[in-house]
Amino acid sequence: MAQPTDAQEAAMDRISVLKTDITTLDVDAIVNAANTTLLGGGGVDGAIHRAAGAELYDECAGLGGCETGGAKLTKGYRLPARYVIHTVGPVWTGGDRGERDLLASCYRECFRIARERGFKTIAFPAISCGVYRFPVDEAVRIALRETQEALKTNGHIEKVIFACFGEDTYEAYRSYLRTPKGA
Ligand code: ADP
Repeated sequence: MAQPTDAQEAAMDRISVLKTDITTLDVDAIVNAANTTLLGGGGVDGAIHRAAGAELYDECAGLGGCETGGAKLTKGYRLPARYVIHTVGPVWTGGDRGERDLLASCYRECFRIARERGFKTIAFPAISCGVYRFPVDEAVRIALRETQEALKTNGHIEKVIFACFGEDTYEAYRSYLRTPKGA
């Protein structure tokens, strides 16, 4: 395996992988893997709306939806997190419909908002890795690549958390980040 560069190692110090429910995290922003309506759904989206309460739905209803690969910001309401960044991951249909670029765009758009707002702590679920069926390994690689890229130029961010609900995503993140220093 290729050795991590100094810049990658510095970025890795600011990345944590946790097996946890993202709705419990006390961070500046949690990311929601939403759908284009932004009106709630199953999986992590449903969990976030349940925990945040009806006011989140009301704010989302005024946003006019969101395109795949885009992201929009709301407050966090009853969540411990101050804000929610709603992003819409692609549905995996085999990889020929720009799914990889669209997933990368989700992470970039979330980091764009985080930069604009000066967020220091941000937590992501495994966008598109649930009912949208994106291959976990590849999704994790894209998430980490975009995160390392964003951390290189965003000195404000102190911690990026990948909140994993399932063993599959947790293990995939762990295996990519396990490469020990100087090994
Ligand atoms: P998508 O439609 O983008 O695939 P899902 O919500 O179906 O979104 O799944 C995305 C990922 O979020 C999956 O890995 C799923 O296990 C995980 N997930 C579901 N609920 C939670 C939660 N409360 N906290 C963190 N991750 C969650």
